[in-house]
Amino acid sequence: MSDSDAERAERAAFILGLRGRGIRDVAVLRALELVPRALFVDPTLRRHAYEDVALPIACGQTMSQPSLVAAMTEALALTAEHAVLEIGTGSGYQAAVLSHLASQVVTMDRYRALVSEAQVRFKVLGLRNVTAFLGDGTLGLPARAPFDRIIITAAGTELHKALVDQLKPGGLLVAPIGEARQVQTLRLFTKEATGLVAKDLMAVRFVPLVPGVATTL
Ligand code: SAH
Repeated sequence: MSDSDAERAERAAFILGLRGRGIRDVAVLRALELVPRALFVDPTLRRHAYEDVALPIACGQTMSQPSLVAAMTEALALTAEHAVLEIGTGSGYQAAVLSHLASQVVTMDRYRALVSEAQVRFKVLGLRNVTAFLGDGTLGLPARAPFDRIIITAAGTELHKALVDQLKPGGLLVAPIGEARQVQTLRLFTKEATGLVAKDLMAVRFVPLVPGVATTL
């Protein structure tokens, strides 16, 4: 088998594995099939790219296991008209998955190095509807608001008001809520006229949401 045949087989097994882990949304599975996770992982960890494991990335951060990326994507119930904000670009993998399901994706990280590496990956993959910005995600991105969907991929003890304000009425927001370095709860919030309605999805572990832009890297 050539390398590309091997990679195709690996990726087919990867999608079957996600189905086995309960991911049923065909459009979500297709989006994960379209994004080569190998491009987003550190080259020394390439052999683990299609395993269902979280992996370390630059700047001391972590990218989630694919089944969690898929579950969070599924929870957002995306349509091709949606504008999405992601807080926590990291490798750019989650944003790339979202870009295949939404109209526009903007993603923010507090590390310049992560933002620029993600931008390069989006360009290599020809993804034109996703842009990474350097900034403090706790403030959101007012210049691009409002958003139909918001996804936070770093853990906080509460939802920041700026993000709730930047969510459209009827919009959905998914976020891990809880203390750093502990098990958190992934929660799905719906912005209803009367306020936010929350639903607990599952126990998760994310790196912390840290206010402010990083002064190094
Ligand atoms: N979604 C990413 C993984 C995110 S890891 C992926 O698919 O690879 C969490 C990220 O949140 C880290 O890169 C971290 O730098 C970022 N982060 C933490 N606090 C932040 C903040 N206040 N604003 C923006 N990004 C933040």
